[in-house]
Amino acid sequence: MTTYRAPVKDYKFLIHDFLRLGTKDDLPCYEEASSDIINAVLEEGAKLTEEVFHPLNQSGDEEGCTLKEGTVTTPKGFKEAYQQYVDGGWQGMTSDPEYGGQGLPEALGLAFNEMQVSANWGLAMYPGLTKGATEAIHAWANDELKSRYLPKMLTGQWSGTMNLTEPQCGTDLGLLTTRADKSSDGTYKITGTKIFISAGDHDLTENVIHLVLARIAGAPEGMKGISLFIVPRNTVAEDGATGGNNGVSVGSLEEKMGIHSNSTCVMNFDDAQGYLIGSENKGMRAMFTMMNEARLGVAFQGLAIAEVAQQNAVIYANERLQGRSLTGEKFPDQKADPIMVHPDVRRMLMTNRAFIEGARAFGLWSGELADISRQHKDEGKRKEAVDMLALVIPVLKSYLTDQGVESASRALQVYGGHGYIKETGAEQFLRDSRIAPIYEGTNGIQAMDLVGRKLGQNNGETIRALFLMLTDFIETHKDNEKASKHIALLEKALGRQQAATMWLMQNGMSNPDNAGASAHYYLNLMALMMMGYFWVGMEIRANEMLETGEGDASFLKNKIITSAFFFEHIMPETASLRYKVEAGAKNVMALAAEDF
Ligand SMILES: Cc1cc2nc3c(=O)[nH]c(=O)nc-3n(C[C@H](O)[C@H](O)[C@H](O)COP(=O)(O)OP(=O)(O)OC[C@H]3O[C@@H](n4cnc5c(N)ncnc54)[C@H](O)[C@@H]3O)c2cc1C
Repeated sequence: MTTYRAPVKDYKFLIHDFLRLGTKDDLPCYEEASSDIINAVLEEGAKLTEEVFHPLNQSGDEEGCTLKEGTVTTPKGFKEAYQQYVDGGWQGMTSDPEYGGQGLPEALGLAFNEMQVSANWGLAMYPGLTKGATEAIHAWANDELKSRYLPKMLTGQWSGTMNLTEPQCGTDLGLLTTRADKSSDGTYKITGTKIFISAGDHDLTENVIHLVLARIAGAPEGMKGISLFIVPRNTVAEDGATGGNNGVSVGSLEEKMGIHSNSTCVMNFDDAQGYLIGSENKGMRAMFTMMNEARLGVAFQGLAIAEVAQQNAVIYANERLQGRSLTGEKFPDQKADPIMVHPDVRRMLMTNRAFIEGARAFGLWSGELADISRQHKDEGKRKEAVDMLALVIPVLKSYLTDQGVESASRALQVYGGHGYIKETGAEQFLRDSRIAPIYEGTNGIQAMDLVGRKLGQNNGETIRALFLMLTDFIETHKDNEKASKHIALLEKALGRQQAATMWLMQNGMSNPDNAGASAHYYLNLMALMMMGYFWVGMEIRANEMLETGEGDASFLKNKIITSAFFFEHIMPETASLRYKVEAGAKNVMALAAEDF
C-alpha cells in the first residue's frame, strides 16, 4: 500500500516567499485569491487527493476500465471520488467566472494538478482533459457554443477529450483523414476513426464533449486543411438539454503499459453532428491552445509522479534494514542499519529531491507567466509572457517528463527487488510515468519545436530576453557572499547555452540534420540552466529568511543543502551537453539504414 502527502509546505514557500505570486502585478485572478484563500485551496486540495484520490490508485490500476455493450465502466470507487471533486467545485477553479468558473490563478491550478496526478494519475486525467477542452472552446468558439457547452463542463457535469490521433497519423497530423461534410444548417457531419483517445468514454459524467480534428470536404492537403469541431457524444439542444447518441461510439479499449484506470479508446464517428470552432482550415491554431495548456499539465505529470515515487521510496529507505553505515553502525541495537545510511541510496534520493523541488519552482513560474499572459493590463507585458511561455513549454514538457521517468526508476531502485514486485506500488509509478514523454507531442518533437520554431520566434527576441533575465539576475547577486559560488556556476551554464545557441544558428541552418541531432541535448541544457536559476534563487531567498527569522528554519536549511547538491552533482552535466550539441549530425546520420 502506497501513501501520499501533498507538498503543501513547499507550495506555500514557492507561492508566498519565493515567487511572491499576487504581489507583483495587478492581476484580476489574485483579487479574490488572498494568501488565506490560496492556503485554504492548497489544504483542501491536499485533503481530497490524499484521502479520496490516492486510496483508489492501486486498486484502479489493477481493475482497469471495462467496455461492455458499448459502455465504458471505470474502476470501483472512481464515480464517487469524481463526484466529490465535482461537489467541491474543483473543475472550474481557474476558469472564466462568466461561464461559472472561479477565476483563480492558473499557477494555483497547476499546484492542484500536481497533487491530483501524484495521488491518482488515471483518475486525474478525466478532469485534466476537460480542462484542456474548455480552454480551447473558451478561446475559439462563438458565444452561442460557449454558453451551450462551458457551464456544464466547468461544473464537471460533462467531460471533454481531444481527438487528434488516427492509425496512420500521430506526430504528422497533416495525414489525418477524418471527414467533415457541411450541412445546410451550418453544422458538419463528422466521419472517421480516432485511436488512443484518453478519457474517450466513461461513466463519470452524463455527456462527453469531444474536440475533433477533421478535414472539411475539398480542404487543402496536409496541415493547412484541418479544422476543429465540437462533437458531443450525446446531442445537446440549444437550451443545453442532453439527448440521444450523436453517432459517436467506442470501438475498443486499448490494453496498455500503465494508467490503466484511464480509458484509452478507439473512437468511431459516424455522421456525428459537429460544430466548427475557430475558422475553417485553421484547426491547428485552435488545437494549439489546447495543446499548450495540456503540455504544461503533462509537464506537471512528470513532476507529480517523481514526488509520489520519492515519498514512498524515502519511507522504505528508512524502514529497510540492510548492512551497516560505512562510518560505523548507526543503530547498534538493531541487526542492521536502515538503507538510508548508504551514500548510494542517498545519491538516488537526493537526485530525485533536487529535480522535484527545482522543477516545481520552474513549473510554477510558468503558471505565473500563464496568468500574466492572459490578464496583465499592459498589452506589451501580456505579449512578452505569451512568447516566454511558448519558449519554455517544450523545455518543461520534455525535461520534466523525462526526469519523471528517471525519478520513478531511481525510486524503484531504492527498493531493490521489492520495487520490481507489484505489491510495493513502485512499479506502477514507473509504468504510469512512461506515457508522459510520448503523448502531447513526443519529447523528440518538443526538442524540434524548441530549436526549429521557438528559438527563432520574434527574430530571436524571446531567447535574448531569457538570456537577459539570467544575466541581470547574475549581475544583481554575484556579490552575494553565500550564493556567489553557485551564481558563478549558473553563469558558466548560461555561457554554455549561449555558445550552443550560436552553434545551432551557424550549423542548423546550413544542415537541418544538425538541428535535429542536437535538439534533445540543447533542450536539456536549457532545462538545467533554468533549474540552476531557480535553485540559486530559492537558496538566496532561504538565506534571507533565515537571517530575518522568517519561516521554518529546518525547511529553509534543507533547501540550501539541496541547492548545493544540485550545483555539485547535476549542474556539471551542462558541460557535456554543450559538447553533445556541438557534435551535430555527422555520426548520428552516418550509418546506412540497412546497417542498423
Ligand atoms: C495512453 C495514450 C494516451 C493518448 N491520448 C491521446 C489523446 O487523448 N488524444 C490524442 O489525439 N492522442 C492521444 N495519444 C496519442 C499520442 O499523442 C501519440 O501516440 C503521439 O503523438 C505520437 O504519435 P505516434 O504514436 O503515432 O508516433 P509516431 O508519430 O509514429 O512517432 C514514432 C517515433 O518517431 C518520432 N518522430 C516522428 N516524426 C518525427 C519527426 N518529424 N522528427 C523527429 N522524430 C519524429 C517520434 O518522436 C517517435 O519517437 C495517446 C497515446 C497513448 C499511448
